[in-house]
Amino acid sequence: MWETIQQKVTEIRERISAAARRAGRNPDEITLIAVTKVFPASAIRAAYEAGVRHFGENYVQEFERKRPELGELPGAQFHLIGHLQSNKARRAVQIFDVIQTVDSVRLARRLDEAAAALKPGARVPVMIEVKLSPEETKSGIPPEELGSLIEFVRGCAHLELTGLMTMPPFSDDPEHSRPYFRRLRELAAAFALPQLSMGMSQDFEVAVEEGATHVRIGTALFGPREAA
Ligand SMILES: *Cc1c(COP(=O)(O)O)cnc(C)c1O
Repeated sequence: MWETIQQKVTEIRERISAAARRAGRNPDEITLIAVTKVFPASAIRAAYEAGVRHFGENYVQEFERKRPELGELPGAQFHLIGHLQSNKARRAVQIFDVIQTVDSVRLARRLDEAAAALKPGARVPVMIEVKLSPEETKSGIPPEELGSLIEFVRGCAHLELTGLMTMPPFSDDPEHSRPYFRRLRELAAAFALPQLSMGMSQDFEVAVEEGATHVRIGTALFGPREAA
């Protein structure tokens, strides 16, 4: 199975580049994050061998289990993209390089304390997850409260706020995601935040057209998760 990962990575990179060119953007501005939740450490290694350097995982405990099996992967960056409970903040900053899902002052405070304990002067890169649809199940902070959370995170000495992340409601039609992506871009611009983590297997091309700097792709690289 993993020999096809190389082909999929090539194909996804070509689609990212094509979408970037359509929007008059430089494809080098876009980081491919391979989402490896549910898949074994061997999937991470296969993607690494195919040139991928950014990986997304949803659960602290799952990644903790896989990590010892990974071996050395120089230059690899691991992003936490799933909801984080405050009581796991400490472990999260120890094993992840980027936390994309800050969505409360309480969590930001815990992450800041945990980052301070990592090593002197450490600044952990974080993004704020924004909830742009009123669905109950989605985590993230509502746009009305974003300004005050940004202000708080910017005041955290051990966190570096780099951007915003979102996950639109699921739809088979990628065009349904476009207004959400556009809204996230406008919010990021309003607060002068450079990074936008948005777009998944279904809708990453639309996300790139709307300004994504990080796309998070699982299924299109590794196949359906039930089969894992
Ligand atoms: C699972 C997941 C993805 C990847 O989704 P695919 O549809 O498999 O590409 C991206 N972002 C988040 C937050 C996820 O939980």
